[in-house]
Parts: sequence; structure tokens; C-alpha cells
Amino acid sequence: MAHPERIVIVGAGHASAQLCESLRKGGHGGTITLVGEEAWLPYQRPPLSKAYLMGDFERERLFVRPRAFYEDAGIELRLGIRAEAIDRAARTVRLSDGTVLPYDALALLTGARVRPLDCPGASLTGVHYVRGIDDIDGLMPAVAEGKRAVVVGGGYIGLEAAAVLRKRGLSVTLLHRSPRLLSRVASVETARFFEHLHREEGVDIRLDTTIRAIEGAGRVERVEIERRDADHVASDAHEEIPADLVVAGIGVLPNQSLAVDSGLPTEDGIAVDATCRTVDPAIFAAGDVAWHPHGRWGDIRLESVQNALDQAKTCAAAMLGEAAPYDATPWFWSDQYDVKLQSAGMPQGYDRAVWRAGDRPRSGSCWLYAGGRLACVEAMNDPRAYMTGKRWIEAGTTPDAGAVGDAAIPLKSVTVS
Ligand code: NAP
Repeated sequence: MAHPERIVIVGAGHASAQLCESLRKGGHGGTITLVGEEAWLPYQRPPLSKAYLMGDFERERLFVRPRAFYEDAGIELRLGIRAEAIDRAARTVRLSDGTVLPYDALALLTGARVRPLDCPGASLTGVHYVRGIDDIDGLMPAVAEGKRAVVVGGGYIGLEAAAVLRKRGLSVTLLHRSPRLLSRVASVETARFFEHLHREEGVDIRLDTTIRAIEGAGRVERVEIERRDADHVASDAHEEIPADLVVAGIGVLPNQSLAVDSGLPTEDGIAVDATCRTVDPAIFAAGDVAWHPHGRWGDIRLESVQNALDQAKTCAAAMLGEAAPYDATPWFWSDQYDVKLQSAGMPQGYDRAVWRAGDRPRSGSCWLYAGGRLACVEAMNDPRAYMTGKRWIEAGTTPDAGAVGDAAIPLKSVTVS
């Protein structure tokens, strides 16, 4: 493909801000148009469920770059406008305001949207999600000491929200439908660590529990739940929990309809190659929406800031004709109460887990092995374990499991192969 003159970016998240920057740094002198459905400049999501919800983080600080950055870089912002259709033959994108934008290269950085609750009462006033600035701004007025919150979903969003709500003096009941927390995103051992942490902080955790209905006269007053029995089979045991608000964090869905409607292949995300290019050489995808092949982890869609930033760099390089396959080791962090989790690698498909005690309360690390190879480290309040584990995973080396599990042996003395 010839060097593109006109680049259109659809979606205005972390990946988009990075792509703008990488394209200009990489020498792209042509036009860049950034189309975003929300009216906001690209912003950081991680603080939303943490410091921003806590009220400790000003909105201005959320923006990845100030408006002046886009102006100085000659990037045209089309915010508060939806991209509605792609005409691949004509190489144009039609926007909700009727504009038709021609492109030589198109980046679909459309991210993901929350999975909505589908129980009766899901649209009552007082039901909230944690995804965008507007969600948190809508939730903030409901967060007041003494209120009763029901959090649905024990993934990172649910747990981070539960931690903030507790810190702000609400009583919190957390419902999770699987028998253990963080079922999609962390090891059993780390899930147990966080279950203990939240119980210690006073969260009423209900595992194996689903939400049957949200009830109230116009707004949330109670939540009807259904517990499963010891074999995790739905039982007749119902309970009503009085509630002033419901916060749902039950996962996200990739925003891939533009790709589907224009005939681009999709799986759980828009299918791209290792350079973020779809089967159409002029169309790319990156970040939460990209279904991509990873050298070590297979075909995958990753939901993390690191992936959004790294793939945006790969995407820029590919657009500028310097294709460099994306192969980064996934890493992630979460803050809950006084605990910082940092993880590197993937916590799925492991066959051995080794716990290493930390050097203070509420610390420790979990080392996951798959087929005798180190696949993931999850470190709680232990940055040294995280850094060391990440380096080993990136180098493809594996520490001796017996030594890793013995906190008396410094990590630097552990034999690796
Ligand atoms: P998640 O990790 O997918 O967890 C959601 C949980 O909700 C799943 O464990 C799932 O349970 C459950 N669930 C799914 N459908 C449900 C339903 N219909 N009813 C009840 N439970 C249901 O997603 P998340 O915690 O909502 O996080 C959303 C996104 O935010 C992710 O992309 C995540 O990476 C991102 N995030 C990032 C950070 C950070 O940067 N630190 C922090 C928080 C979140 P099952 O296991 O039973 O399927």
C-alpha cells in the first residue's frame, strides 16, 4: 500500500491518542481526522473506577492529551459524532452528521461497551455502569455515606468499585455468579486473596449468586437474588436485598458493528493480523476491539491500556510501511484499598500455581506455570516480584518453582532455565 495521505481514526480512546502521536512522530504529514462518539477528548479509563470515583482526581487530568496537542499536531477532531458506515470500495466513512470522509487508511479503534444487565428492573433509576466519564458523573451524586449499594460482577470493575464505595462509607453487597471472583481474569489463588481482602473490608460477597430482578417504584429499592446450591445449580433460594443503588460491572462487548456491516471478518473482535491490519489492506483495528494473533497466547482480544497503547504504535508503524508484528507480554494493574495488583502474562490455562509470601500484610505473589513454563505472575503489593516475573516471561525463562515458593530465597538467587 502506498503511504496514506488521509488517515481517519474512528474511536477516541487511549489507542486513538497514541496513534495520533505515533503517526506524527513517525513522519506522517498528511491529514488525520479523529472521530469520537463521546464529546470528550480521548481520556484515561483506569482512574474512573478508582481515584475519579473517589472524588480525588480532577476531570482535566483524565484527558490523555490537552486540546492544544491535537491543534498543534494538525489533527481534526470530530467529537460527539458517530461513524455510521464504511464504504470500502469508495474508501469513505459516513458520519452521523451526514459528512462523508474519504480515507487512504482507516483505523477502527472503537473499543468496547458495557454488557448491560438484562434482568427485570435493569433500567430503573439508580442502576449504574462504570465505563465512561458520563457514567461516573452520573454515579457520583448517588455515592453518599450510609447508602446501600449492590455491586453486580466480581471482575476488576466490580471489585474496584466496591473498594471505593466502602471507602466512601456505603454498605456494599457484591454478587458474583461464578463460584469464585475474577473468574475470567485472574488465578484462583489471587481471586481468593481479593475475596479475603474485601470481606475484611466489610463487603458482603455472595458467590454463586445471580441477580433475578431489581425492584422499586421508579427507582432502585431492592434487589432480588438467586443463589445456586453447592453443585452450582440454580436453586429456589431467593433473597431480597434492600438497595439504594446498583453498580454493574459484568464485562464488555467489542464495538465491531462497523466492521461486521462492511463485511470485514470478526470473531470476538475485529480480526487483524499481527500488524493490526484487517483483510482490507487500508483498514486497521487496535485496542480492546482487536482480535489478533499473539505469538505466545494464540488468537486473543485483550482489554487493557497497555495493549491499546502498544497496538496503536504497531498500527502506526504498519500504516507508515514499517510493519513490526505485535508480540508484547500483556500486563495489567488494579488498585483496591491499600493493595496494588500488578500482573504480567496470562492467567489462563495454567496447571501449577505457586504462592510466594510477601514481606508485609496484604502482600504476596502468585506464579502460574503452564507445561512447566512460567506463564503469569500476579503480585500484590510486591513490585519486585512483578518486575522480576515480567522480565522472566518476556525472556522466555522459567524460575524453579520450589525456590519461587520459598520467600526466604531472594528472587535474584532463584535458578531459571
Ligand atoms: P470482567 O473481567 O469480564 O468481569 C465481569 C464478570 O461479570 C465476569 O467474571 C462474569 O462472570 C460476570 N458476568 C458476565 N455476564 C454476567 C451476567 N449477565 N450477570 C452476572 N454476571 C455476569 O469485566 P469487568 O470487571 O466488567 O471489566 C470490564 C473492563 O474494564 C475490562 O475490559 C477490564 O479489563 C477493564 N478494567 C480495567 C481495569 C484496570 O485497568 N485496572 C480495572 C477494571 C476494569 P462469569 O465469570 O460467571 O462469566
